[in-house]
Amino acid sequence: MKLSEIANTLREIGVVPVKTLGQNFLHDQNLARWIVKEAELSARDFVLEVGPGVGAITAPALAAGAELLAIEKDGRLVEFLREKFSGQPLEMIHGDALEFEVKRLFPRGPVKLLGNLPYYISTEILFRFLEPPTPIILAVLMLQKEVALRLAAGPRSKDYGILGLVVQSQYRVEYLRTIPASVFLPQPEVDSALLRLTPRAAGELPDFDRELFLTLVRRGFSQRRKQLGKLIKKEVDDWPHAAAEIGASAQTRAEELSLQQWVRLTNFVRPITGKTSGTDLTEEFAVVDENDRVVGRAPRHEVHGNNLRHRAVHIFLFNRAGDLLLQKRSRWKDRHAERWDSSAAGHVSAGEEYDATAVRELREELGVTAALRRIAKLPASEETGKEFICLYRGEHDGPFASPRAEIETVQFFPRDVIARWVAERPDDFAPGFRECWRCLATPPA
Ligand code: SAM
Repeated sequence: MKLSEIANTLREIGVVPVKTLGQNFLHDQNLARWIVKEAELSARDFVLEVGPGVGAITAPALAAGAELLAIEKDGRLVEFLREKFSGQPLEMIHGDALEFEVKRLFPRGPVKLLGNLPYYISTEILFRFLEPPTPIILAVLMLQKEVALRLAAGPRSKDYGILGLVVQSQYRVEYLRTIPASVFLPQPEVDSALLRLTPRAAGELPDFDRELFLTLVRRGFSQRRKQLGKLIKKEVDDWPHAAAEIGASAQTRAEELSLQQWVRLTNFVRPITGKTSGTDLTEEFAVVDENDRVVGRAPRHEVHGNNLRHRAVHIFLFNRAGDLLLQKRSRWKDRHAERWDSSAAGHVSAGEEYDATAVRELREELGVTAALRRIAKLPASEETGKEFICLYRGEHDGPFASPRAEIETVQFFPRDVIARWVAERPDDFAPGFRECWRCLATPPA
């Protein structure tokens, strides 16, 4: 929309832009189209737009053929947009983006995030939507220039610090361009900038302990001018050795270390162990006949390679709210890597019983114990990968501690979200989980 159109529209719908909602509406149509182009939208894309306002970015995004979900806090704008784009693939949510449950988006598949963000909450929005696990695969966002500079900053600059490192440890951040205040109505007091964020590919950075990384970065930047070694004495006792290991001088300051050096420092202090494989290939499983009677034992690769019948357990862990914990299998797993799966699951080892395996898997995969109840038994089939599966349920609210080689992450999901997700994107899940879920939804007569 042009400047005059926006002014007229606002007048017609009785909206006087308010600062408390960060309402600065974009009136440069070329720029709006350019933003959409930078997100490389096509008819296959599902887009989430935060704060659509009067639809400056919404219109070109719809024109590119994408399907949109938009969250807008101002009810008058919601009504206006519903009417303006009626008949188009736009779903409007009247609400606060900071209360939106990102996990509800998983059933939609990969999501692109767009927004000329309300500046008073721009960093909160970033963290809410981009904190893993998230289905967002790309974000093109307008932010106040000062925040954008901090997010994109590299070492030895005044903008480099905690915010940039935290985000860059998970996303590639590109500063696309500075946007003058004059393209907005009303004009904000500061310039803006456009950023593009893309999740880092698996393996792009070595894996590292995120909590320790945050602690080190926070301490390091607590006094920017001070030498880093003096600020992280508690975490790093042999600083000269650590500095040499990461290729830094012993006198270095936090702002001089690159992201890669921070990661190396984190791994020097607390190395990640046992990461080369998510699978113990020497493990032996119980081999069973068509009636689930044990007839022998064989190593994992033989059981899977020769399609032998064997045994497994799956555990569904619910929290107090009734949400189900799902695990995302690690990228190192030999089968169904990076798919979503039951809270915990595993094979029955040779000489082991189902119940004992369930207790063991819960402890090994989630670091907890809980009372478990067997709720179903699934016959071995092609769908279960020739596994007889005993399904257990239990209750636990966490926290959980999972081995990284096995599990990328765990997260509770409402059951209605999972139902929709399994129906719409079955391939996001390991087949064993799908069978257990189906069994829970329609228990055998
Ligand atoms: N996208 C539009 C544009 O480019 O012209 C409007 C951008 S304006 C900077 C920010 C928009 O976010 C406003 O429409 C405002 O009402 C909306 N907004 C403010 N706080 C919000 C919140 N917590 N959740 C969702 N939308 C919000």
